[in-house]
Amino acid sequence: MSLVDKELIASPVYDISLVVSVSEASSCEVGDELTNVEGIIFDRLHKELKYPSELRSVETAGYGVPGGKSIIVKIRDIASAVSLSVYINSWYQRAYPIGLILGAHVAFTNLQQKMSVKNSVYFVTTGLSSVVVKDMNQPPHFESKEDWGASCNLLLAVPSKKLLWGTVEMDQLLKVSVQFRCEYCSHLFIRGRCSYVGCWSHSKGEIAAVCT
Ligand SMILES: [Zn+2]
Repeated sequence: MSLVDKELIASPVYDISLVVSVSEASSCEVGDELTNVEGIIFDRLHKELKYPSELRSVETAGYGVPGGKSIIVKIRDIASAVSLSVYINSWYQRAYPIGLILGAHVAFTNLQQKMSVKNSVYFVTTGLSSVVVKDMNQPPHFESKEDWGASCNLLLAVPSKKLLWGTVEMDQLLKVSVQFRCEYCSHLFIRGRCSYVGCWSHSKGEIAAVCT
């Protein structure tokens, strides 16, 4: 963990007024500023990383994208055919982004804009990026190259041993547990300090967190 000053982490907070549509984002000139983009998901793929240098050897079980893959989310506007891809890369030590299903209306924050060799705009996530699912009510009628299996109503007959997918709504969240670990010795932080007495970083600091 790192003890970050509150003012430093206040800047990347999600601001809905600065979110641009897919067509606006596609026509923007490529610049250094981070962009917030929203659209409707029409495809999602999991890709192996191209270069071994992109793989990180230290990964925490239960976090990140299984297999160290990157996720490519293709989004488009509700009313236009303009589309673009968002590459969710280096999603280490973070919860897998749930809810990125066909037809979901999503907003990505703090993306870096890139230009492909074919001169089309795409975006990659940064360490500040977050994903917000704004609406799930779009009918999931888009075609995907990834095998999601058949869509299924869980209240009706479910074929056994088949790959299936469906949309569910969370009814209740029973528990959220957060643990802080020392970035120097990996021992747990308890009451604001590292629990390992031999750790040289055990000075007490303020712990702040931002949820987006
Ligand atoms: Zn420590």
